[in-house]
Amino acid sequence: MKVSVDRDACYGSSDCAFRVPAVFDFVDGYGVVRPGREDAGDDPAVREAAEKCPSRAVVIEE
Ligand code: SF4
Repeated sequence: MKVSVDRDACYGSSDCAFRVPAVFDFVDGYGVVRPGREDAGDDPAVREAAEKCPSRAVVIEE
């Protein structure tokens, strides 16, 4: 499963980077997926970060 951040939706709470720093980073005021970690969508912690993102900007898809 792929994980990405919809930058248009992200409002920069940094929650994702705080919850799962191995997968998410916080750059220029937005959450981003670290390069090479785009396939981490199956990680339960990443799924939780998606559920808890206040703007629902963390996208998990096939
Ligand atoms: S938790 Fe959501 S709103 Fe906050 S930085 Fe991450 S993607 Fe953006």
